[in-house]
Amino acid sequence: MNKPARIRHKEIHPGIFRIILPLQGTKPGPVNAYLFTGKPVTLLDTGTLKSAPVLERELGRMGFGFSDIEQIVLTHGHIDHYGAALSIIRGAGRPVPVLAHEEDRRLIEHGLEVPEKQFAKYYSLMGVPLIFHVSLLLVQALFKSMAENCRVDRTISDADRIMLGSYEATVVGTPGHTRGSVSFFLEKEGILFPGDHILGHITPNAFVMLEADYILPRRMSQVEFYESLAKIEKLSPRIAYPAHGSPIEDVSATIAMFREQFALRQKHIIDILEQGENTVYRIGRKLFPDIRGKRLPLEIFLMVSEVYTHLQVLQKENAVASNKKKGALYFHLI
Ligand SMILES: [Zn+2]
Repeated sequence: MNKPARIRHKEIHPGIFRIILPLQGTKPGPVNAYLFTGKPVTLLDTGTLKSAPVLERELGRMGFGFSDIEQIVLTHGHIDHYGAALSIIRGAGRPVPVLAHEEDRRLIEHGLEVPEKQFAKYYSLMGVPLIFHVSLLLVQALFKSMAENCRVDRTISDADRIMLGSYEATVVGTPGHTRGSVSFFLEKEGILFPGDHILGHITPNAFVMLEADYILPRRMSQVEFYESLAKIEKLSPRIAYPAHGSPIEDVSATIAMFREQFALRQKHIIDILEQGENTVYRIGRKLFPDIRGKRLPLEIFLMVSEVYTHLQVLQKENAVASNKKKGALYFHLI
């Protein structure tokens, strides 16, 4: 006889359930979706398309089905957060409104923020070898299979108030991880849902924000990420329920740790540049000598994004400058 699958949900506050959905790998690890019962029955994030059956099973164990969900609210436009939305809507057999921030609409509706050729140009400037251009395309194809794009029906922005089940939540615009990342704050209860903006077990990525009409990003993800953290600190939440990993009881200690790591990364990048000028790719390989294996193309993307977004900050502070040589940017200390 088959053993019944383990229970993957827990009531974290009256009428609010955390549902842990599988996601391959340990960084960031399984996704948390949150079900708010009451009116309107709300699902905060959905997991990937692949984990939709697990979501359906756990909802069933709570006495709910896809047809009971009255709105889907998204913290941001990454596949592990919106990937199952369309299959939930199909399962519901009627339209279910999807709410997200306007600036992540493109990600949710089309999967990519900028055309693939923009990625290739950006990779060349970062000094990434051609082999990884090709493998990144394969990663993108794999990602596509983990999510179905869906329409955003209503956009939400900073300071909006929305009902999540029977709780009133304030939308807190927390860009940095993506352009349109939002957190939700239940003021009376002191509970924060930060999406991927604050995670307890790893430092979240402030992804490079590429432009459709320009090779280099204009926006500074790291700066926005830390500004958003300061905004969260002011709210002083009692507890945060992130989109991956366990609840975070000491939000300000976690934020302090992120700041320390940020300073340390910058120091390491400067140490590397003290040995001479280099490309973003080469700096990254020195900074993260251990990355290898099956996930290498994805790790390279994350690495380049992290190094470049730090260099943006150092450049703004007039600590580094770059020259273009043979199609790539070489950074040096000033
Ligand atoms: Zn994310």
